[in-house]
Amino acid sequence: MADRADAGPALRVEGLTIGLDRGPSPAPLVTDVSFAIRPGEMVGLVGESGSGKSLTAAAVAGLLPRGVRMSAGRIELAGTAVAGDGVPAQPRDSLAMVFQNPMTSLNPSMRVGDQVAEALRLRRPGLSRRDARKEAVRLLDEVGIGRAAERARQYPFEFSGGMRQRVMIAIAVAGDPAVLIADEPTTALDVTVQQSVMDLLDRLRRDLGLATLLVSHDLALVSERCDRLLIMYAGELVETGDTGAVLGDALHPYVDALARCIPERAIELGTVHSLPGTVPQAGQIASGCRFRPRCSFAVDACGGDHPPLAEHAPGRAVRCLRAGDPALAAEPTDPGEPGGPGEPGGLPRRLR
Ligand code: SF4
Repeated sequence: MADRADAGPALRVEGLTIGLDRGPSPAPLVTDVSFAIRPGEMVGLVGESGSGKSLTAAAVAGLLPRGVRMSAGRIELAGTAVAGDGVPAQPRDSLAMVFQNPMTSLNPSMRVGDQVAEALRLRRPGLSRRDARKEAVRLLDEVGIGRAAERARQYPFEFSGGMRQRVMIAIAVAGDPAVLIADEPTTALDVTVQQSVMDLLDRLRRDLGLATLLVSHDLALVSERCDRLLIMYAGELVETGDTGAVLGDALHPYVDALARCIPERAIELGTVHSLPGTVPQAGQIASGCRFRPRCSFAVDACGGDHPPLAEHAPGRAVRCLRAGDPALAAEPTDPGEPGGPGEPGGLPRRLR
């Protein structure tokens, strides 16, 4: 693998906006999302269901579902624009993706080794079938498949969930990508297997210099694994920065509420926090701050202009009019209390 450490960002996303492909002005599902990931960096894209995180990842991978389109913005992979205004459709050879359920991505009627070999030959057409099979066995061994030569001759149904995810990771890295998107890669796995699969992704991003976007709703997972976090709410970024800073000293009330749900933090605080309400659907988003209906700290000004994502410190940005206000350090309103800001809800370790 080429040394990527000194290169610029492996992935750059500028002003990504996604809407329904219906009529002249589609309702935005994701609005003005910008970020970059350097080689070897793991960045967590976090939010509740409906926050827009998976759509953002799908747009980067060029896999938006039918009826949804990128209406503005620009995506660059390893310095080359692959999507955006005036950018002709480009192959995204330098990007690979690992999904939640490997069984939906693997061909059930094809031997595992042949599937890895096929991915190798797609990337390196000159590779002979024999050499591709040898390289596939090496890759399977590399991702922790024991007795790789023997297991390469087996079919996906003969593998456990964790082993199938390792095969998917082998197929992903077979293409020598610069960017890996892992969309909830361990959500379907047992806790003990989750750790070993994440250890593998961690090792690969370091050894191969992979810029990794980890899409997850598991706060404990991202707090352990990611260098930086991008927190989304209602289709937009609300806070970004180093993981320790974002979860240890959140500036946005939503992010603070999330951080209070991490088990270690809840033990430290001596209370289990919950957050009222749910993420609004596109088309039902209130004016002003989108989080306002669920925010314990909302003031009249929050219903005015939509707050921008503003730099608070180098590498740290937040979308809150009251960011840095000492009053926000107070305990948020209990959602069960009469007069709380929204309907009761709950926010466990894994976001809904
Ligand atoms: S802008 Fe206002 S409503 Fe929005 S998060 Fe900040 S304090 Fe809460």
